Amino acid sequence: MLNLDHLDKADLEASCSWRVYKGDRAITFSVEAGGITIATHSCDEKGSCIAELARNYAPIHRIPVHYGDLRLLGCPDCGRRCRILYSLAVRVGCRFCLGLLYSSENMGPRDRAWWAVMKIRRRIDANASTDEFPARRPRMKRRIYRQLVERHNAKLARLN
Ligand SMILES: [Zn+2]
Repeated sequence: MLNLDHLDKADLEASCSWRVYKGDRAITFSVEAGGITIATHSCDEKGSCIAELARNYAPIHRIPVHYGDLRLLGCPDCGRRCRILYSLAVRVGCRFCLGLLYSSENMGPRDRAWWAVMKIRRRIDANASTDEFPARRPRMKRRIYRQLVERHNAKLARLN
């Protein structure tokens, strides 16, 4: 799991890399200008890499917000902007791509709050993005839309 909340902004500015071990696999994250390469290797019992199994690239998006810059990762699979990428076997992707949609019991309070925010956005637009609130659909009642905006903003305020 790669969670931007756990990384320093400085880590995303300079080139750096780190490795985590998961059973008989090693996942190496390398930050270069504008993105993170995620390489998955099989490794022996000493932790030496044997063969590369997969290589994924996640661009880092910078979104200006009222309190500075928000950084989000582009999912290597679908391109959606997200705060957290997951790895499952040799795949790396967002919660949607890896089918982790309903594992809310595994989420922390911040993830749950973010999940609630996205749930409201997807009620309006199934492909709602993580960085903006979707526009009202022509057939949606203005009153309903307004209620959703209010509920959404209250949840989002708790996140910031
Ligand atoms: Zn995805």
